[in-house]
Amino acid sequence: MEELEAWDDLSNIPADPPVMRKLCADCRRPAVVCWCSALPPEKLNPRSTVILLQHPAEEKRCLRTAPMLQLGLASNKCLIFKGKKFPQPRHKDLEILLTQPNTLLLYPSKTAIDIRAMENDTDSYNLVLIDGTWPQAKAIYASSPILHNIKQVKLLTSNTSSYIIRTQPTEGCLSTLETAAEALSQLERDPKYTELLLQPLHTLCKYQLENGAVTHQSKEFLIKTRTYPKLIGKRLSKLLRSTQEELPDQT
Ligand SMILES: [Zn+2]
Repeated sequence: MEELEAWDDLSNIPADPPVMRKLCADCRRPAVVCWCSALPPEKLNPRSTVILLQHPAEEKRCLRTAPMLQLGLASNKCLIFKGKKFPQPRHKDLEILLTQPNTLLLYPSKTAIDIRAMENDTDSYNLVLIDGTWPQAKAIYASSPILHNIKQVKLLTSNTSSYIIRTQPTEGCLSTLETAAEALSQLERDPKYTELLLQPLHTLCKYQLENGAVTHQSKEFLIKTRTYPKLIGKRLSKLLRSTQEELPDQT
């Protein structure tokens, strides 16, 4: 009962709407829907470097996860190159990276080996991901012969994507962020990459669901995976999120 009253009290606190749509300097989203507070407290610094080969259309999507990866990792551990084929003269140093012996291409070909089979005592890997839809990724691969010579690895995971806003072609299809985080965790035998890097995605999904985005998953599934929005007002939910850090530990 006391809890219910507390909710009532909280819901009466006025939360003024923003005067204008100010963009967050980091994630470039309107400040009210910024997910930066869900980023790891300290940027993660894996031994390996993630290299995203990004299809130009990917950047224009309104829901995109590459910035979450970029902001969650130390700046030299996530490199993004844009284009429909690679490398191009403007892709500084990419050719060197793509031809190093410790470079791996995450690509689900017939010859790709399970990423967990890779030695993890090497200093570091360059982990190359193609960022785009599956047809875009195939087209990039086909027009970038340099990629054909890179050792190919694949992710074997039963994790269903938590990125439920963006329609997934098949179950088990992961967003760029989820793919990179899972790959880092498997490669470096450390679950913290999936645990910490995916938090902004959970925040984004929660916000989108609260605002009526259509999902293709059952409510039951969403509750089970804790991505279903709590049955409280948007405003209150936001207020609670923004004050969560400042509240004293109540246990
Ligand atoms: Zn932000």
